[in-house]
Amino acid sequence: MKRVHLDHNATTPMRPEALEALLEALDAGLGNASSVHDSGRRARAAIDDARERISAALAVHEDEIVFTSGGTESNNLAIFGATDAGPAGMGIATSTIEHAAVLEPVEVLEARGRRVTRVPCDPSGHLTPQTIAAATQASTESPYLVTIMAANNELGSTTDLPALADALGRARSSSRPGVILHTDAVQLLGKRPAQGLLDWVDLATLSAHKVGGPVGVGLLLRRVGTPLSAQLHGGAQEAEVRPGTENVASICAAARAIELAVQETDDFGARTRVLVEELWKELSCALPNVHLNGPPLSDGTRLPNTLNVSVPDAGDARMLVTRLDLAGVEVSAGSACASGSLAPSHVLQALGHDLQRARSAVRMSVGRTTTQEEISTAVDRLRITLGKAS
Ligand code: PLP
Repeated sequence: MKRVHLDHNATTPMRPEALEALLEALDAGLGNASSVHDSGRRARAAIDDARERISAALAVHEDEIVFTSGGTESNNLAIFGATDAGPAGMGIATSTIEHAAVLEPVEVLEARGRRVTRVPCDPSGHLTPQTIAAATQASTESPYLVTIMAANNELGSTTDLPALADALGRARSSSRPGVILHTDAVQLLGKRPAQGLLDWVDLATLSAHKVGGPVGVGLLLRRVGTPLSAQLHGGAQEAEVRPGTENVASICAAARAIELAVQETDDFGARTRVLVEELWKELSCALPNVHLNGPPLSDGTRLPNTLNVSVPDAGDARMLVTRLDLAGVEVSAGSACASGSLAPSHVLQALGHDLQRARSAVRMSVGRTTTQEEISTAVDRLRITLGKAS
């Protein structure tokens, strides 16, 4: 049985070009990039080249790129690093629909006494710049770290970063002192335009494995001059904010994947939008009681590849995910698995739907390699799994 992977927001297969760059770098006998001898200098040159390519692809300065081990680490570095380096008493404003890699660092800081404001999303999962700005203006004297995701991994809703930057006075040309704006843009890259992010925000998180690069490489983009304290100690790498011997081969592969993802963003959008529309059409025909969660498909700002649906007849989404896995279809549940709880994910709860709809939410995300045939196969298998074969 040919399996159908409809979970590209979790991770997407490596691009052949990135794999080639990885193998080439692994085979090149590169040393430690901090060493002064030949193999060390070649490793340094490989990292410099990767940094240059990423800087050109993302329209940021080379000095604004910090390599990390992934999106989770970049979010942690941004949140702990900015609050440690910021003025005393800095509060945090965030949203109710962030990824755990933002939610949990913020909870840790809250437990240590930081003031936290959580901004709700609208019924389709969008975060409104005015609501976010109002949350930080409630106490105008206070400094704030604002951490707001650029695109939601479960729903595909996005945030208007230029409008948010304007509302917070964070555009490059007009910085409001006292506010640092961080965005988790892990799901934005490759799906919607992500160039020039630092024109709008001070810090931005990206992850290579979401765009066909290897797992284990992330980026924190940091606008020049943004205060940030290292969270690891023991070396001077990455401008002293992220010490540790660099993962050279993976960084080379990440650069290749990011370059291609940026070049292909428009094509990716056009292709995956059609596949998602087809998926929704086939699902609605096969399952009359299916609901769409998050932004409508007509919303031009949504991630083109992401579809979140509830199938209340199917019961708990995690059971459905397991049954679909047995049928050869890979999707993900909108439900949190924490401590065996049956609670729906915080994102589905934030939408305010009834419990049954929230519990039965399943995310399907298509990718570069998804075909029309796979969409039909997935819907057939879902129909059979739910006992609705005609
Ligand atoms: N942020 C978002 C929105 C994500 O979707 C993910 C991964 O699913 C992460 C952060 C974590 O990235 P990584 O897997 O590179 O640690």
